[in-house]
Amino acid sequence: NWRGALLEYIQHPEHFSSVVRVTPNTVLIRDMYAKATIHLLLLPRSPAHYDLHPHKAFEDAAFLAMMKEEAASAARLATAELARQLSPFSATSKTRNDAMDAGVPFADLPPGRDYLPDIQVGIHAHPSMSHLHVHIISRDSHSDMLKHRKHYNSFHTPFFIPLADYPLPEDDVRRQSSFQNANLDAEFVCWRCGEAFGRKFSELKKHLEVEFQLWKAE
Ligand code: 5GP
Ligand code: ZN
Repeated sequence: NWRGALLEYIQHPEHFSSVVRVTPNTVLIRDMYAKATIHLLLLPRSPAHYDLHPHKAFEDAAFLAMMKEEAASAARLATAELARQLSPFSATSKTRNDAMDAGVPFADLPPGRDYLPDIQVGIHAHPSMSHLHVHIISRDSHSDMLKHRKHYNSFHTPFFIPLADYPLPEDDVRRQSSFQNANLDAEFVCWRCGEAFGRKFSELKKHLEVEFQLWKAE
Protein backbone atom coordinates (compact mmCIF):
# COMPACT_ATOMS: atom_id res chain seq x y z
CA ASN A 1 0.00 0.00 0.00
CA TRP A 2 1.44 3.37 -1.06
CA ARG A 3 0.39 5.01 2.19
CA GLY A 4 2.94 2.85 4.00
CA ALA A 5 5.85 3.63 1.65
CA LEU A 6 7.75 5.81 4.13
CA LEU A 7 8.37 2.87 6.48
CA GLU A 8 10.93 1.44 4.09
CA TYR A 9 13.13 4.54 4.57
CA ILE A 10 13.03 4.04 8.33
CA GLN A 11 13.83 0.34 8.21
CA HIS A 12 16.32 0.36 5.33
CA PRO A 13 17.75 3.85 4.92
CA GLU A 14 20.84 2.34 3.28
CA HIS A 15 18.70 1.32 0.27
CA PHE A 16 17.94 4.89 -0.73
CA SER A 17 20.09 7.58 -2.28
CA SER A 18 17.35 10.03 -1.30
CA VAL A 19 18.24 9.63 2.38
CA VAL A 20 20.01 12.79 3.48
CA ARG A 21 20.86 11.92 7.07
CA VAL A 22 20.23 9.29 9.73
CA THR A 23 20.49 10.01 13.44
CA PRO A 24 19.67 7.71 16.39
CA ASN A 25 16.16 9.27 16.42
CA THR A 26 15.25 10.21 12.85
CA VAL A 27 15.72 9.68 9.14
CA LEU A 28 15.78 12.75 6.89
CA ILE A 29 14.80 12.12 3.26
CA ARG A 30 14.06 14.00 0.07
CA ASP A 31 10.41 14.11 -0.88
CA MET A 32 10.05 12.04 -4.05
CA TYR A 33 7.49 14.47 -5.49
CA ALA A 34 9.01 17.71 -4.23
CA LYS A 35 6.39 20.49 -4.16
CA ALA A 36 8.98 23.30 -3.95
CA THR A 37 12.64 24.03 -4.67
CA ILE A 38 13.66 22.27 -1.44
CA HIS A 39 11.39 19.63 0.08
CA LEU A 40 12.59 17.24 2.78
CA LEU A 41 10.72 14.92 5.14
CA LEU A 42 11.85 14.20 8.70
CA LEU A 43 10.76 10.74 9.88
CA PRO A 44 11.03 9.60 13.50
CA ARG A 45 12.42 6.07 13.90
CA SER A 46 10.54 5.20 17.10
CA PRO A 47 7.85 2.56 16.40
CA ALA A 48 5.98 3.84 19.44
CA HIS A 49 5.45 7.13 17.60
CA TYR A 50 5.69 6.63 13.84
CA ASP A 51 2.22 5.12 13.47
CA LEU A 52 0.46 7.88 15.39
CA HIS A 53 -1.30 10.92 14.02
CA PRO A 54 0.90 13.99 14.68
CA HIS A 55 -1.66 15.44 17.15
CA LYS A 56 -1.33 12.27 19.25
CA ALA A 57 2.42 11.70 18.83
CA PHE A 58 3.29 15.27 19.81
CA GLU A 59 1.46 14.95 23.12
CA ASP A 60 4.67 13.25 24.26
CA ALA A 61 6.72 16.25 25.40
CA ALA A 62 10.13 14.56 25.19
CA PHE A 63 9.36 13.25 21.71
CA LEU A 64 8.14 16.67 20.57
CA ALA A 65 11.28 18.35 21.92
CA MET A 66 13.46 15.84 20.08
CA MET A 67 11.56 16.37 16.81
CA LYS A 68 11.76 20.17 17.15
CA GLU A 69 15.49 19.98 17.67
CA GLU A 70 16.12 17.65 14.74
CA ALA A 71 13.74 19.62 12.51
CA ALA A 72 15.60 22.83 13.34
CA SER A 73 18.83 21.18 12.30
CA ALA A 74 17.21 19.89 9.10
CA ALA A 75 15.90 23.40 8.39
CA ARG A 76 19.44 24.80 8.60
CA LEU A 77 20.55 22.17 6.12
CA ALA A 78 17.62 23.07 3.85
CA THR A 79 18.57 26.74 4.13
CA ALA A 80 22.09 26.01 2.93
CA GLU A 81 20.76 23.92 0.04
CA LEU A 82 18.34 26.64 -0.95
CA ALA A 83 21.11 29.24 -0.94
CA ARG A 84 23.17 26.99 -3.20
CA GLN A 85 20.25 26.37 -5.56
CA LEU A 86 19.32 30.02 -5.87
CA SER A 87 22.83 31.40 -5.97
CA PRO A 88 23.44 33.47 -9.11
CA PHE A 89 26.66 31.48 -9.52
CA SER A 90 25.09 28.04 -9.44
CA ALA A 91 23.94 28.17 -13.06
CA THR A 92 27.41 28.92 -14.35
CA SER A 93 29.80 27.43 -11.82
CA LYS A 94 29.93 24.12 -10.02
CA THR A 95 32.15 25.29 -7.21
CA ARG A 96 33.37 28.41 -5.55
CA ASN A 97 36.75 27.80 -7.19
CA ASP A 98 35.16 27.83 -10.63
CA ALA A 99 33.41 31.05 -9.68
CA MET A 100 36.70 32.60 -8.56
CA ASP A 101 38.33 31.54 -11.82
CA ALA A 102 35.46 33.25 -13.60
CA GLY A 103 36.30 36.45 -11.72
CA VAL A 104 33.46 36.54 -9.17
CA PRO A 105 34.57 39.20 -6.65
CA PHE A 106 33.79 37.35 -3.42
CA ALA A 107 35.48 39.99 -1.26
CA ASP A 108 33.10 42.68 -2.58
CA LEU A 109 29.85 40.73 -2.21
CA PRO A 110 27.28 41.71 0.42
CA PRO A 111 26.74 39.20 3.26
CA GLY A 112 24.75 36.12 2.21
CA ARG A 113 20.99 36.19 2.36
CA ASP A 114 19.37 34.31 5.23
CA TYR A 115 16.85 31.87 3.79
CA LEU A 116 15.76 30.38 7.10
CA PRO A 117 12.47 32.39 7.16
CA ASP A 118 11.74 30.94 3.70
CA ILE A 119 11.76 27.38 5.04
CA GLN A 120 8.47 26.04 6.44
CA VAL A 121 8.60 23.29 9.08
CA GLY A 122 5.39 21.48 9.90
CA ILE A 123 2.81 18.83 9.19
CA HIS A 124 -0.37 18.39 7.17
CA ALA A 125 -3.52 18.31 9.29
CA HIS A 126 -4.65 15.19 7.39
CA PRO A 127 -1.52 13.41 6.21
CA SER A 128 -1.91 11.05 3.27
CA MET A 129 1.15 8.95 4.16
CA SER A 130 0.64 6.86 7.28
CA HIS A 131 4.08 7.20 8.90
CA LEU A 132 4.70 10.36 10.84
CA HIS A 133 6.63 12.92 8.79
CA VAL A 134 7.49 16.58 9.21
CA HIS A 135 7.77 18.63 6.02
CA ILE A 136 10.79 20.89 5.68
CA ILE A 137 9.94 22.83 2.56
CA SER A 138 10.81 26.13 0.94
CA ARG A 139 7.89 28.56 0.53
CA ASP A 140 8.05 29.01 -3.23
CA SER A 141 5.74 26.19 -4.42
CA HIS A 142 7.85 26.26 -7.57
CA SER A 143 7.72 22.71 -8.88
CA ASP A 144 6.47 20.69 -11.84
CA MET A 145 5.07 18.27 -9.26
CA LEU A 146 2.63 20.93 -8.04
CA LYS A 147 -0.35 19.79 -10.09
CA HIS A 148 -3.45 19.98 -7.90
CA ARG A 149 -5.33 22.52 -5.83
CA LYS A 150 -4.49 20.68 -2.62
CA HIS A 151 -0.77 20.60 -3.48
CA TYR A 152 -0.80 24.37 -3.12
CA ASN A 153 -3.37 24.86 -0.39
CA SER A 154 -1.93 22.17 1.87
CA PHE A 155 1.18 24.32 2.29
CA HIS A 156 -0.34 27.80 2.19
CA THR A 157 -3.40 27.64 4.44
CA PRO A 158 -3.81 26.61 8.13
CA PHE A 159 -3.95 23.04 6.79
CA PHE A 160 -0.19 23.30 7.22
CA ILE A 161 0.47 23.26 10.96
CA PRO A 162 3.90 24.56 11.99
CA LEU A 163 5.73 22.18 14.29
CA ALA A 164 6.35 25.18 16.55
CA ASP A 165 2.59 25.35 17.25
CA TYR A 166 2.66 22.02 19.10
CA PRO A 167 1.48 21.06 21.62
CA LEU A 168 -1.80 22.06 19.97
CA PRO A 169 -4.50 23.33 22.37
CA GLU A 170 -7.46 20.97 22.81
CA ASP A 171 -9.87 23.53 21.31
CA ASP A 172 -7.65 24.53 18.37
CA VAL A 173 -9.82 24.92 15.26
CA ARG A 174 -7.13 23.24 13.17
CA ARG A 175 -8.16 19.90 14.71
CA GLN A 176 -11.54 20.12 12.96
CA SER A 177 -11.97 18.20 9.72
CA SER A 178 -14.62 20.54 8.37
CA PHE A 179 -12.27 23.52 8.83
CA GLN A 180 -9.41 21.67 7.15
CA ASN A 181 -11.46 20.41 4.21
CA ALA A 182 -12.50 23.99 3.58
CA ASN A 183 -8.84 25.05 3.60
CA LEU A 184 -7.95 22.49 0.93
CA ASP A 185 -10.85 23.71 -1.16
CA ALA A 186 -10.21 27.43 -0.57
CA GLU A 187 -9.51 29.99 -3.27
CA PHE A 188 -5.84 30.48 -4.08
CA VAL A 189 -3.88 33.27 -2.42
CA CYS A 190 -0.31 33.97 -3.51
CA TRP A 191 2.17 33.12 -0.75
CA ARG A 192 4.32 36.12 -1.61
CA CYS A 193 2.10 39.08 -2.59
CA GLY A 194 -1.32 37.96 -1.31
CA GLU A 195 -3.04 38.28 -4.69
CA ALA A 196 -6.17 36.11 -5.01
CA PHE A 197 -6.69 33.76 -7.95
CA GLY A 198 -10.06 32.24 -7.22
CA ARG A 199 -9.98 28.64 -8.39
CA LYS A 200 -7.89 29.32 -11.46
CA PHE A 201 -5.03 26.90 -11.00
CA SER A 202 -3.30 27.67 -14.31
CA GLU A 203 -3.35 31.40 -13.47
CA LEU A 204 -1.83 30.61 -10.10
CA LYS A 205 0.87 28.47 -11.72
CA LYS A 206 1.84 31.28 -14.10
CA HIS A 207 1.97 33.72 -11.22
CA LEU A 208 4.12 31.37 -9.11
CA GLU A 209 6.69 31.34 -11.89
CA VAL A 210 6.85 35.16 -11.86
CA GLU A 211 7.06 35.26 -8.06
CA PHE A 212 9.82 32.67 -8.06
CA GLN A 213 12.00 34.87 -10.26
CA LEU A 214 11.32 37.95 -8.12
CA TRP A 215 11.90 36.06 -4.87
CA LYS A 216 15.18 34.69 -6.20
CA ALA A 217 16.33 38.18 -7.09
CA GLU A 218 15.30 39.74 -3.74
P1 5GP B 1 1.42 14.25 3.46
O1 5GP B 1 1.11 12.83 3.86
O2 5GP B 1 1.83 15.11 4.62
O3 5GP B 1 0.35 14.89 2.66
O4 5GP B 1 2.69 14.22 2.50
C1 5GP B 1 3.36 13.04 2.15
C2 5GP B 1 4.55 13.40 1.31
O5 5GP B 1 5.26 12.20 0.99
C3 5GP B 1 4.19 14.04 -0.03
O6 5GP B 1 4.83 15.32 -0.11
C4 5GP B 1 4.69 13.06 -1.08
O7 5GP B 1 5.22 13.71 -2.21
C5 5GP B 1 5.73 12.27 -0.34
N1 5GP B 1 5.88 10.89 -0.79
C6 5GP B 1 4.90 10.04 -1.14
N2 5GP B 1 5.40 8.82 -1.42
C7 5GP B 1 6.74 8.91 -1.25
C8 5GP B 1 7.82 7.97 -1.41
O8 5GP B 1 7.64 6.79 -1.72
N3 5GP B 1 9.07 8.44 -1.16
C9 5GP B 1 9.32 9.74 -0.78
N4 5GP B 1 10.59 10.07 -0.57
N5 5GP B 1 8.33 10.63 -0.64
C10 5GP B 1 7.06 10.23 -0.86
ZN1 ZN C 1 2.13 37.01 -5.86
